[in-house]
Amino acid sequence: MAGVALVSGGSRGIGRACVRRLAADGFDVAFSYRSDEQSAVELEKEIAGLGTRVLASQVDVTDPDAVSEWVARTERDLGPIGAAVTSAGIIADGLVVSMPTARWNDVLRTNLDGVFHVCRAVAFPMVKRKSGSITMISSVSGVHGKAGQANYAAAKAGIIGFGRSLAREVGARGIRANVVAPGLIDTEMTAGLPEPVRRKMFEQIALRRAGRPEEVADLVSYLSSDRATYVTGSVVEVHGGYGG
Ligand code: NDP
Repeated sequence: MAGVALVSGGSRGIGRACVRRLAADGFDVAFSYRSDEQSAVELEKEIAGLGTRVLASQVDVTDPDAVSEWVARTERDLGPIGAAVTSAGIIADGLVVSMPTARWNDVLRTNLDGVFHVCRAVAFPMVKRKSGSITMISSVSGVHGKAGQANYAAAKAGIIGFGRSLAREVGARGIRANVVAPGLIDTEMTAGLPEPVRRKMFEQIALRRAGRPEEVADLVSYLSSDRATYVTGSVVEVHGGYGG
């Protein structure tokens, strides 16, 4: 299949692993970042060095107009988007009883509104072409809940309801929409966790370790490919056996 893939939040962590994997799968890739230009430029050079067409863009997913413009520019410069991945996300943990409204809003705006903005923008041309695949990165926190992460869990659970609904809306047009819910993955987002907290978390993971971004990207690669033509409206967990 291949063609053009678009990844929001592709400059670091899970998004970067998706950019690398989708490029290896033969896609030309457009990816976005918010502020870390250095990481974005480094990745852009790396991917271009493979002979793949690649476009890095500074696009804040909370800005719907900027997202629409990014999607239109990608289609103009690289061609029709066949696979889209939403990975842009933040955490701002805190207990509900003391959570400032701004912290709630920031997380919901980036992690849920941002997904809506990207999916709306890519789904429109996909519907017209009657093909495409959309993969949204949620979290086990959105499936199971997590103390101290109510804002994050609410956004990630929202993605699950949104993604399943989107799949029902666009399925008749041959478009697939799926949600991936990772567990603890080693990225900058989780790098600040104190070692004792990590060890405690490992006790709840059957494989007793954190996942690698590439292990999430493998799943995204599958869902974005023609190997997954009957997979839609699914929530696929990738967490090394989390729970209990
Ligand atoms: P990182 O912090 O490593 O990377 C986050 C990426 O999102 C960066 O590219 C960042 O850009 C971008 N980003 C953040 N805010 C915005 C915004 N407003 N607009 C555009 N881009 C933005 O995070 P991870 O790779 O760990 O996480 C990726 C996704 O996976 C997130 O949705 C996260 O919630 C989810 N996830 C992560 C897990 C983990 O354990 N790491 C577990 C489960 C889910 P910039 O560098 O410019 O800030």
